[in-house]
Amino acid sequence: MLEKHALFRDFRAFELPDGEIRSLYLHWSAGPYDQTSSAYHFVVGYERGQLFARQTHDVRENMRSLSEDLPYAAHTRGRNSYAIGVSALSMLDATPQNFGPAPLTDELVDALCAMCAFLARRYHIIIDAEHVMTHAEAAIIDSYFGLLPEERWDLARLRPVPVPITASEAKASGEALRARIRSYL
Ligand SMILES: [Zn+2]
Repeated sequence: MLEKHALFRDFRAFELPDGEIRSLYLHWSAGPYDQTSSAYHFVVGYERGQLFARQTHDVRENMRSLSEDLPYAAHTRGRNSYAIGVSALSMLDATPQNFGPAPLTDELVDALCAMCAFLARRYHIIIDAEHVMTHAEAAIIDSYFGLLPEERWDLARLRPVPVPITASEAKASGEALRARIRSYL
């Protein structure tokens, strides 16, 4: 249950003004656990070993059709209008086979999903593959899925395994995350 989640008090502290939000994009930061970024609206991470959730950008700036001359949280290429970006701070120097010194943890995945459920409830966002997707899934649709610096594979894989990453794995991971978000509603 969402109200019983360890981070529920953090979620309650978010500033969530009325307005139109249609979709959620899920990321990891490809950085250390405690380095927040205003490219996202909300992040989960660890500070001195302690799990936290924090708001890092005003939601209002993305409650509109965006153009380049306005400030906004630029989380997902071409998909920032009426969209919230959330991120699990993790995956510094990670590869699909080795998640590196700040690996994604099940606890972070769980916190990210609970946070998405909280936001989806607030803004009446439908939990399906069209409205709630990982950056990897958006990258598949928009043709920049992959491991190159200009490509993205956020949340295509949730634990390291010694096989190459594929688009079908990324979609399955997206489905697993959506199921976990729904379990909190
Ligand atoms: Zn991303």
